[in-house]
Amino acid sequence: MDKELFLYNTMSRKVDKFTSLNPGEARMYTCGPTVYNFAHIGNFRAYIFEDLLHRALKYFGYNVRQVMNLTDVDDKTIRDSQAAKLPLKEFTAKYIKAFFEDLKTLHITPAAVYPPATEHIPEMISLIKTLMDKGFAYQAEDKSIYFSIDRFPEYGKLARIDRENQISGVRIRNDEYAKDSVADFALWKAWDEADGDVYWDSPWGKGRPGWHIECSAMAMKYLGKTFDIHTGGIDNMFPHHEDEIAQSEAANGCRYVNYWLHCAHLMVNGDKMSKSAGNFYTLRDLLNKGFSGRAIRWVLLSCHYRKKLNFTFDAVAQAEDTLKRFGEFFRRMRELPESDSGSDKLDELLAQYDEEFYKAIGDDLNVSAALAVLFNLQREANKLADNGELTRSQGEKILALFRKFDQIFDALEVDAEHEDAVPAEVAALAEARVQARKDKNWAESDRLRDEIKSLGYMVEDAPGGKYRIKPL
Ligand code: AMP
Ligand code: ZN
Repeated sequence: MDKELFLYNTMSRKVDKFTSLNPGEARMYTCGPTVYNFAHIGNFRAYIFEDLLHRALKYFGYNVRQVMNLTDVDDKTIRDSQAAKLPLKEFTAKYIKAFFEDLKTLHITPAAVYPPATEHIPEMISLIKTLMDKGFAYQAEDKSIYFSIDRFPEYGKLARIDRENQISGVRIRNDEYAKDSVADFALWKAWDEADGDVYWDSPWGKGRPGWHIECSAMAMKYLGKTFDIHTGGIDNMFPHHEDEIAQSEAANGCRYVNYWLHCAHLMVNGDKMSKSAGNFYTLRDLLNKGFSGRAIRWVLLSCHYRKKLNFTFDAVAQAEDTLKRFGEFFRRMRELPESDSGSDKLDELLAQYDEEFYKAIGDDLNVSAALAVLFNLQREANKLADNGELTRSQGEKILALFRKFDQIFDALEVDAEHEDAVPAEVAALAEARVQARKDKNWAESDRLRDEIKSLGYMVEDAPGGKYRIKPL
C-alpha cells in the first residue's frame, strides 16, 4: 500500500503532497496560547487540530518534533497582569499551569518543547540586530524598532495582500491588526509607562519584544532556519504569520516554512468564539456541566479542520452517546461466545478498512471519511456477530484495528480497563452472584442482584458466566 500524506498548504492554496526536509522527521511549530486567561474551547479546536496533525504524521511513519510557544509577554498579558495587580510572571504562571492540565484532559500529544517568550529575549534581540544590520528594520522617533515592509517585496505572499496602492512608511505598534491596516510592524517596543515594570534592556534602550518576533526567534532556535510545518488558527495567518515570514526570511535569506496549515474557527451562533466577544466556554466550564474531556475532544476532532464548526451542547451530548455505543461494541467484541465458525472474509475486510483509513487521513486529514471507516467496520462486525460468524480471535483482530485507529482519535477507549471503576463491595457481590448461579441457587442470585441494585449498580449477564456491572 502506498501511504502518502497530502495536506492543504495555505501558502500554495492547494492540497500538496507532504515531503519532509529530513527523511522520516517532521519538524513543526505551533503558535501556542497567550497566557492571560484560561484557554477557551475555540483555542482548543486549534490545539486539537494540531494534535491530529501530529498524530497523522506519526501514523504515516514520521518522527515528529513539535514546538509550541507560550506567549507570556505581549499587550494583553501586560494589560491584565496590571489589572490583577500581580507581577507578570506570577500572573501568567497560573494560566500556564491550567493550560497543561487542560492539554492532559483533552489527550493532546505533548510537544517536545514549550518555550516561554520571556525566557528567550536574548534570541529575539539578536534576531532584531540582524534585521537592523541588514537594513530591514529601523528605529522610529518613539525609539521602537519597526520592520520595514517596503524592504521585503514578498511581504503579503501568505495572506495574498495586494501591495499596490499602499502608502509606505505607516507604522503600527499593536500586535494585532486587520489586513486593511497593513503597515510596518513593531519588532521591539520601547518602554512606556503603560508597561510598568515589564521591560528588558536592549541596544535600543529598555523595552519588550513585539509578539511576532517571539515566534520567529523561538522557531529558529528549536527547529532551525527552515522547517517543515507551521500551524495556527486561521486568524493567525495575518498579520502574525505574514510578519513571522518577513522577519525570518529577511534575516536568514532562506525560506522559513514549507507547509502552512490553518484551522477554521469554532463558532457560536454564527460568530467566532473569542475572549473579546465574550461568547466563550473554557474547558472547565464544560467539565463542570458534567461533560467528559473525551466527548469534548470528539466534537472538536470530528469536523474537518478547514470547516467552521458551530459549537452546541447537543453535539457534546451526542458525542457522549456515540462513544458509549462504541464502548458497548468493544465489549461485545471482547465477549464473543466461543465459536469455531468464523467468517472467512474478515481478514480481507480488515485489510480494506485499514487501507481506507490511511487514505482518509492522508487526504488532508479527512476525519469524516475516517469516521465512516469506523462506523462501517462497527456495523459489519455487528452483522457478523449477529449471524454467529465471528470467533473470539476474530473479535480480537477487530479490536486490534480499532486500537490502531485510536492512535489518531485517542478517544475510543477500546480496552476494558477504561470502564468505570466499580466499588470493591459491588464487585464482591457480583462475584458471589456468579457462584450462586453456578450452584443454580436462583433465589440467592436474585437477592444479590437486588443488593447490588440497592448500591446503585446493575449486573448484565454475558455468555460463559461473564457479566458486566453498570451504574444504574
Ligand atoms: P491566542 O491565545 O489568542 O493566541 O490563540 C491561540 C490559538 O487559538 C491560535 O492558534 C488561534 O488562532 C486559535 N483560536 C482562537 N480562537 C479560535 C476559535 N474560535 N476557533 C479556532 N481557533 C481559535
Ligand atoms: Zn506565533
